[in-house]
Amino acid sequence: MKDLHVVADQALELPATPYQARHFIDGAQSYSADGRTSDRVSPSHGVVVSRAALGGTAETEAAIRAARTAFDDGRWSRLSGKERGTILMKVADLIEKNEERLALIETLESGKPISQARGECGGAADLWRFAASLARTSHGDSHNTLGADMLGVVLKEPIGVVSIITPWNFPFWILSQKLPFALAAGCTCVVKPSELTPSTTAMLAELLIEAGLPAGVCNIVLGHGDPVGTLMSRHEDVDMISFTGSTAVGKRITKAAGDTLKKVALELGGKNPQVIFPDADLEGAADAVTFGIYFNVGQCCNSSSRIIVHEDIAEDFVARVVALSKKVAFGNPLNPETQVGAIVSAEHREKIDGYVKAAQAEGAEVYLGGDALTVPGLSDQFYQPTVVRGVTPDMAIAREEVFGPVVAVLTFRTLDEAIALTNDAHYGLSAGVWSENVHTCLAFARRAQAGTVWTNTWMDGFPELAFGGMKQSGQGREIGSYGFDEFLEVKSLVMRVGRTRAPWVKSA
Ligand code: NAD
Repeated sequence: MKDLHVVADQALELPATPYQARHFIDGAQSYSADGRTSDRVSPSHGVVVSRAALGGTAETEAAIRAARTAFDDGRWSRLSGKERGTILMKVADLIEKNEERLALIETLESGKPISQARGECGGAADLWRFAASLARTSHGDSHNTLGADMLGVVLKEPIGVVSIITPWNFPFWILSQKLPFALAAGCTCVVKPSELTPSTTAMLAELLIEAGLPAGVCNIVLGHGDPVGTLMSRHEDVDMISFTGSTAVGKRITKAAGDTLKKVALELGGKNPQVIFPDADLEGAADAVTFGIYFNVGQCCNSSSRIIVHEDIAEDFVARVVALSKKVAFGNPLNPETQVGAIVSAEHREKIDGYVKAAQAEGAEVYLGGDALTVPGLSDQFYQPTVVRGVTPDMAIAREEVFGPVVAVLTFRTLDEAIALTNDAHYGLSAGVWSENVHTCLAFARRAQAGTVWTNTWMDGFPELAFGGMKQSGQGREIGSYGFDEFLEVKSLVMRVGRTRAPWVKSA
C-alpha cells in the first residue's frame, strides 16, 4: 500500500528500564505477597515497557477490607464536600504536572500515538475538576407541600465501597470518568486496571498520596480479571461495581454480582452508525467518518464502524472517505505527527483481519486496505485503514464490534430505512446523523436507540453530559450529574412538625 501515509521516524526515546507498577492498598504501594509480576511488551516496539505486580486473592481481599474500613469509619464519607473537592482539585493539578510521564507509558503500553495520549492524560484533569465541583454542589430535595405538620427531605448519601474495573483502550481517561466521581460522592474504591495497561493507574497512586487522599479511600489492585475482577464483583463488602469493557465480561460481572444484589453500572461495546443524508455537508461528514473509524485504531467503544449512506451519494461519499483515509498518518506512536498507532495485540490484529476476510468471502468488496500494515522498524501489530462496501445487515462485520480501523458501508433510501438499519443491532451506544435539515436530524435523534446521538459532528463529549449505552451497550450512565448520581443512594427523611400525630391505637 504505497499510497498510504506511514510515519516510521521516532521522535522520542524508549525508556531505559521498564516502569515498575505496584498495588496501592491502604495507603501503601506494594508488590504481591508471592512476588508474582507480569511484563507488558509494547504493541508498537516489541520491547518490555512495564513490569506490574500481579495480584491474587490476598491483595484483593486486603484492598476491599481497607476500602470497607475507610468507608465505615467516615474518614472520607463524612468530610464536607469542600474538603473532598479540595483534594480532587489537587489531584487534577498533579495530573497536569505529570502529563508527559503518564502519556509516555500510556503510549508504550497501549500503542496509541503520543499526541493522543497527552490529550487523554492531561485532559483527564478536567474530569477531576468537574467532579470536584459536584462534591460541593450535590444536594437532595425538600418537600414543603406535604401539609402544615409534615416536612419531607430526600437525602443523597454515598453508596459505599465501589469496585472500578477498566479496559485497556483508554486506561487513564476511563479511570478518570469513574474514580473522581465516586470519590466526590464520598465513596471509597477498589480499582483494577486492565492487565495490559496497568501503569498509569499505578502512577495515579503517587499523585493521590501527594494530594493528601486519606489511606484506604482509593485502593488499586493490579492483575487479571480472574481472580481479581471476579472477587471485586462478588464480594459482599462491595456495594457497587462500575465496569467498562466488553459486553461478554459485563454479563459475567452481572451474574457474579447477583448473589449480593449489589448495584452494577456497565459501559460496554458498540456498533455505532453515522448516517449520511444527501443534503449533508459531505466534506465535513467524510472527515468525521474518517476520524470516527481510525481514532485509537478503531479500538474505541464509540468507533463509527458502520456508515449508513444514502444511495444517491454513496459512490461519491465513499470515494471521499477513501481519499481522506490515505492521508491519515499511521505509524510510530512515539512521533507526535502520528495519528493512528498499533493494534493492542497480535491476536487482536488477526481477529480484525478475520472480519474483513469473512465479509469478502460473503460478497462484500474491500475498497481500501484489508491487510497488515508494515511500519519500517516496528512490530507487525499494525493494520491498514480499511473500507469495506457492499456490506449487508446480516454480515458479522455489520453487527459485531470489529474494534479495528475498519468501516462497513451500508446504504439506505428513506429516513425510515436509515433508522431501521441504525436500530438493527444488539448494541445502542452512540449514533450520528448528517443533514442540513434540522427536521431530519431531530427525527433521527428521537428514534435512534442510542445513549448518545451526534448531529453534524462525531464523538464530542463533555464532563457535563451523561454518557452510556442502551440495549447491550450497558446500563446506568457515567459522567455528568446523572453519572455522579449513580454513586449515591437516596434516603427519604419524613418529619412531623409539632405533636400533631393522631394515635393509631384507639383509647377505650
Ligand atoms: P474486557 O471486557 O476484556 O476487559 C475489561 C476489564 O475487565 C479488564 O480490566 C479485565 O481484566 C477485566 N475482566 C476480565 N474478565 C473479568 C471477569 N470475569 N470479572 C471481572 N473483571 C474481568 O474488555 P477490554 O478488551 O479491556 O476492552 C475492550 C472492550 O471495552 C470493548 O468491548 C469496548 O467497546 C469496551 N469499552 C466500552 C466503553 C464504554 O464506555 N461503553 C469504553 C471503552 C471500552
